[in-house]
Amino acid sequence: MSTIAENISTLSEQIQAAAHAVQRDPASVGLLAVSKTKPANDLREAYAAGLHDFGENYLQEALSKQLELADLPLIWHFIGPIQSNKTRAIAENFAWVHSVDRLKIAQRLSEQRPAELPPLNICIQVNVSGEDSKSGCTPQDLPALVDAICALPNLRLRGLMAIPEPTDNHDEQNAAFATVRTLQDSLKLPLDTLSMGMSHDLEAAIAQGATWVRIGTALFGARDYGQH
Ligand SMILES: *Cc1c(COP(=O)(O)O)cnc(C)c1O
Repeated sequence: MSTIAENISTLSEQIQAAAHAVQRDPASVGLLAVSKTKPANDLREAYAAGLHDFGENYLQEALSKQLELADLPLIWHFIGPIQSNKTRAIAENFAWVHSVDRLKIAQRLSEQRPAELPPLNICIQVNVSGEDSKSGCTPQDLPALVDAICALPNLRLRGLMAIPEPTDNHDEQNAAFATVRTLQDSLKLPLDTLSMGMSHDLEAAIAQGATWVRIGTALFGARDYGQH
């Protein structure tokens, strides 16, 4: 077995154990392979080992991998910060966007989504750590943004996404993810997605209801950011 296939099998066991620990169906937790900075061949290996969903942060890098991997039926998720001048290519080339945090971006994505494609699946990124430097909509601004996005014709709001401040403290991890879940519940909408949990905190995220865990390092190994 390749290292990537081994990592996927370890992660699947981790996800199963974390789901069972809180009486959740492990099938309700999706493994999103975060492949930023990784070569197309790594994604090919992950696909061969059973993964279909890939998350990318950098548009140009993602588009070139999409070309190289056009022979595979992959589902592409955009998970990085979004500048206005990138929305058209994102709307045209991805099935999901996890990192929408302001209305202007959502409006552009809806306008630019090609008519022949199904609506773009959207998660609103919320900032639950209160750090000024992080992206994400504030909890205060969330209800208005949700209402506005629900009115956009070519988007389908699926739920919330969050990247809490990294910590090794399990209680703090659980508290941050519980805040995201409570925010989602407070919207009283039939949303089915919570995108939260990365390599170091996926168990806590699953305990608090994550339906996508976004895993890079534990799947593909450490990243080299030299080219970025
Ligand atoms: C890089 C990244 C991840 C993956 O992080 P790991 O710690 O490598 O698992 C998940 N989500 C987002 C938004 C990222 O940018």
